[in-house]
Amino acid sequence: MENTLNEKIKIGISACMYGAKVRYNSKGFNILGYLKREKNDFLWTPICPEVMSGLSVPRSTIRLIGGNGFDFWEGGAQVKNRLGKNVSGMLKAGTLSCFETLKRVDVDAYIFMEGSPTCGIYRTTLKNERFGKPPGILGALLLKEQMFLIPALDLQSPLKWWDWKRRLVAFTWFKKKDLNTLCEFFECWDILKILCQEIDEESAENVNNSLKNFSNKTDPKKFKEIQIEILNILRKPSDPKKIKKWLWKNYNHLKKVHGIEVSRIRHPEYLRGVTHVAEEILRVELEARKIKKCFRSSPIDYAPGR
Ligand code: SF4
Repeated sequence: MENTLNEKIKIGISACMYGAKVRYNSKGFNILGYLKREKNDFLWTPICPEVMSGLSVPRSTIRLIGGNGFDFWEGGAQVKNRLGKNVSGMLKAGTLSCFETLKRVDVDAYIFMEGSPTCGIYRTTLKNERFGKPPGILGALLLKEQMFLIPALDLQSPLKWWDWKRRLVAFTWFKKKDLNTLCEFFECWDILKILCQEIDEESAENVNNSLKNFSNKTDPKKFKEIQIEILNILRKPSDPKKIKKWLWKNYNHLKKVHGIEVSRIRHPEYLRGVTHVAEEILRVELEARKIKKCFRSSPIDYAPGR
């Protein structure tokens, strides 16, 4: 099976992180500047639910009262601005319009500004009020939709971005697969297995067991269930310790099986910063892709437009 994704990945992004000066204080930040030319490998859809709601720039800050984003959609929470004005109706209309845009474009992922009562996922305030009432209003819709969600600030770290990107590429590649036979499923799992083991060993083992115990070899419902289980594993971030451990293992596998030699790939215990680890990974990836071999830490080759 071909382990390449040629189609450009479509990503929605909080407009204030795309450089648009749409925050309440007329500020914005070009987080994609960290990706440099790699930015061109993706198709971007920036949205700002607060501006689409008709709230001006600048504007007074807003907050969720009486619950989180899920409660808001069920009528149990409201959004008020600092002057006490209830702007729930406006927010509902603007957020739904942005959400519909993301669905119309059929984005594969969304990069969110954390700490916003609208776009936030794990916190809805940037102030010292713990985490606020997460998720935010748009955040709740995105979580329900099971969107692949990336925190914008993680783009600043080369290693965190590499981790998000390899999983997003694998996620998009696998999500688009129309699996009809157990054999096809095994071929995909063979490609993704090692990455899933790195991310979450226990869940990967569960997938292994489900596949072994498959009774009906053409049950589309069961295929779908396991496919969702694998996609859920791919949403979870790894960490530097695991990344270094599996870089070493997977590099040695390439060396042994395909004779690939890359200089200065360090043992996991060797002390170095995350930028050096990211640079080592990219060199191994490059050598593996040159001879069309699968580097199991980032098993899907992302080659948009090739
Ligand atoms: S966090 Fe979301 S709603 Fe707030 S300014 Fe940025 S894009 Fe707009």
